[in-house]
Amino acid sequence: MEAILEVQDLHVRYGKVEAVHGVSLSVAPGQIVSVIGPNGAGKSTTLNAIMGTMDGTASSSGIVRFLCEDIGPMPVEERVRRGMCLVPETRELFSSMSVLDNLRLGAWPRRRAGDRNCMDQLETVYRLFPRLEERAQQDAGTLSGGERQMLALGRALMAKPKLLMLDEPSLGLAPLIVREIFHVVSRLRSTGVAILLIEQNARAALQVSDHGYVLETGNVALHGPAQELAGNRRVIDTYLGLGRQAAA
Ligand code: ATP
Repeated sequence: MEAILEVQDLHVRYGKVEAVHGVSLSVAPGQIVSVIGPNGAGKSTTLNAIMGTMDGTASSSGIVRFLCEDIGPMPVEERVRRGMCLVPETRELFSSMSVLDNLRLGAWPRRRAGDRNCMDQLETVYRLFPRLEERAQQDAGTLSGGERQMLALGRALMAKPKLLMLDEPSLGLAPLIVREIFHVVSRLRSTGVAILLIEQNARAALQVSDHGYVLETGNVALHGPAQELAGNRRVIDTYLGLGRQAAA
């Protein structure tokens, strides 16, 4: 099957320091792919390079193909228009706007492109996250951490992306909420969207994924089917073991 996203030999440097050293990965249509690894491994950097949202001091080389096209020179807006969407670690909601208005903003790129049905995902989003419908008129700034993550995901889905990239969706959330978020992520598979998931919570990520990559100090140390990785001795000891659970 032709990959929806293919990254080949990606290098990213901040000034003179290289943070990502030749990462290659791919995501097939409808797949959930996770990238796990410790702090500072280069996970967010990789995601931002794919999305074209690196900060001004960063430069990259390598090939990023989306829907079989090299998107290297493409500005972020064009990547969004073609169906890429990134939910950053910071979630970046508009706190003084209502939940519904934040969702409307998610649909804005489609509206600008002349799509008259740009709000057609609202029902799906409310079905996935009933709490967002209950709180539609509430200011986003007054939501709980878990609800904010739901809103960030819901807003991304309003754009009807072909590839959804999630940077640490479990960050700072209580275990029960993490379960809820990952449950929704696995349900998204049925909507046909492909997902590239960056996570430190390796257990939860591998459970919902088809394929996984372990990123360590800017290199892919291991990759394979998620179930195989979850059974790999090194992954168990470093990312899933009891010591790791205790530390968490
Ligand atoms: P975390 O899980 O902690 O977010 P990560 O795997 O996402 O970690 P990155 O945030 O991609 O890792 O960082 C990779 C390396 O690049 C780190 O050494 C970090 O200090 C460095 N780095 C990240 N952003 C910048 C920046 N704007 N300027 C300089 N160095 C940076």
